[in-house]
Amino acid sequence: MAPALGAAGNVHALPPRGQMGKSNEQGNMMTNPALPATRAAQSAARNNLPPEDGQDELDVRRGFIATFPDAEIRDSNGELVWGLSDYAFLGVEEAPDSVHPSLWRHARLNMAHGLFKVTERIYQIRGFDLSNMTIIEGDTGLIIIDPLTCSETAAAGLKLYLKHRPRKPVEAVIYSHSHIDHFGGVKGVIDESDVESGKVCVIAPAGFMEHAISENVLAGPAMTRRLQFQFGNTLDRNACCQIDSGLGKNVPRGTVTLIAPTRLIEDEVERHTISGVEIVFQLTPESEAPAEMHFFFPKLRALNLAENATRTLHNLCPLRGSQVRNAKLWSHYLNVALERYAREADVAFAQHHWPTWGTERISGYLRQQRDLYKYIHDQTVRLMNHGCTAIEIAETLRLPESLDKQWHARGYYGTLSHNVKAVYQHYLSWYDGNPSNLHALPPEAAGRKYVEYMGGAEELLERAQADFAKGEYRWVAQVMNHLVFSDPSNSEARELGAAALEQMGYQAESATWRNAFLLGARELRIGARGREVKVSRGADVVRAMTEEMFFDYLAVRINGEKADGLFVRLNWNIEDTARRYVLNLENCALTVRSGSEEGTHVTIHMTRAVLEEILTRKTDLATAVAERKIRIEGDEKKFQAFLGTLDAFRPMFNVIEP
Ligand SMILES: [Zn+2]
Repeated sequence: MAPALGAAGNVHALPPRGQMGKSNEQGNMMTNPALPATRAAQSAARNNLPPEDGQDELDVRRGFIATFPDAEIRDSNGELVWGLSDYAFLGVEEAPDSVHPSLWRHARLNMAHGLFKVTERIYQIRGFDLSNMTIIEGDTGLIIIDPLTCSETAAAGLKLYLKHRPRKPVEAVIYSHSHIDHFGGVKGVIDESDVESGKVCVIAPAGFMEHAISENVLAGPAMTRRLQFQFGNTLDRNACCQIDSGLGKNVPRGTVTLIAPTRLIEDEVERHTISGVEIVFQLTPESEAPAEMHFFFPKLRALNLAENATRTLHNLCPLRGSQVRNAKLWSHYLNVALERYAREADVAFAQHHWPTWGTERISGYLRQQRDLYKYIHDQTVRLMNHGCTAIEIAETLRLPESLDKQWHARGYYGTLSHNVKAVYQHYLSWYDGNPSNLHALPPEAAGRKYVEYMGGAEELLERAQADFAKGEYRWVAQVMNHLVFSDPSNSEARELGAAALEQMGYQAESATWRNAFLLGARELRIGARGREVKVSRGADVVRAMTEEMFFDYLAVRINGEKADGLFVRLNWNIEDTARRYVLNLENCALTVRSGSEEGTHVTIHMTRAVLEEILTRKTDLATAVAERKIRIEGDEKKFQAFLGTLDAFRPMFNVIEP
């Protein structure tokens, strides 16, 4: 056996070995404290923080009107959808050794919750969800920007507002962009029938529906699992676990809804007056989201920057994975907002975090946010043109002091490191250009070779434990990954890898990095079992999915090996909507066109309702066939063979082990 961690040197802060990484009866993890190297890193970080002028503390509370205790929000069954009592440990000002001091400060600021006055006629609900809901008082009714992630939190926010402000009906809902935390709660604030009757209008940027629906469909299973690492939603809440997610505390567990927009903003700039409030819409496509926009309220001297300028360095590609965002355009749109509107604004606010007041401060803040994204873009491109790879640039690039010493420019959600990699990927792909990396061995095969070349598992563990004692956690995590991939049953390797990731989590300034490292540690210790996040699409989102999206998703479920040699041509009829498609499975690839034709192997008849049952996972294709909800004409055996090629995705696939 490799020597125990305690024998490796300077790690006497560890609890007795038998208790390390084990879970107690409640299934909660036993975690290690911050070790000396981490304590040293935190104290170095503390000396490098921006000066504390107390401004954020003032701004986060400014305009506070009222809230619910602990922001607790329950659904109609009494189940907790949202609540902040689990985060009470953040009440202490001094950061514990297990949290980066800057993240601790940010996580405390994100604890503010309730109804806030932004300026005359503009209010916000904050801390009731991951995102903010903005409420604007029109002459005859309310305009709501971004009704949060789920109907329960949005309804609770509106209820709190109505308790403290004159009662007016909601006349318009505006979606600032196509991410779910900005539209999912819409049915908590308006009824679909009022939209249909024209009483309420719903406004969104061009491309909203397409992107709101499609972004999470094809790669949905992979993103859902990776999202757990980004938000740490299955981790405990305490100073050694999840404390924040950068944009806000976490993601609520409520009902996701959607009402399609009735009016799209399609020109670069559009002016509309809604309920007596003049709004200038500035489209910002391909920025933080594929469809997004800013708003300027000239009479109210207020500028809303959606999610393009928040109190953090945002993501050019989030850890859950997405298509890379355009840093250059992002910066450009902020510059346009700065040039056109900032001079005439007394307050700038966004759909996460707290506002910035004062024309002068807004201008400074926007110049810094603009340059933050431009700097990362330009310097990455400069260095890659010098031949540096993404890993090398991420390792060496630093923000200039003038940006680094701004709290709002620090990486609580994105990081400079992974944003650099996103810019590199945007221009040059995953490939670093070095042919030695062009055809590298995959993790299991490489792992076996590394372990063998390093003298075997025992030798490797012994060396890694010595490095662990020296605080070389990045390397230990990396090398333990090789050992775990070569032999996932090696419990010493799993625990040492977990212990290293845990210290990295403690040292991370970014909440998303912290969450990723700490969930990685947890899964090395007890596997991916338990605390599974249910994957269910909201019924409204499914209703908005086109049949083409369904067939695209079906196509990515086809298992190429199983489909080998199979040729199936199908007419697929959605009877009630009278839409017809021809599907062709050939060469292991499924292609689709609309229409119908003679002489196919099979014809499928089904209703849109059955299709939606399948999409919401109330049933699956095979069951629907067995239950005769799907009628088959022609060669039924062919259709069964077609169904036999479809993969089902495991929601909790392995990440930290083979
Ligand atoms: Zn958001």
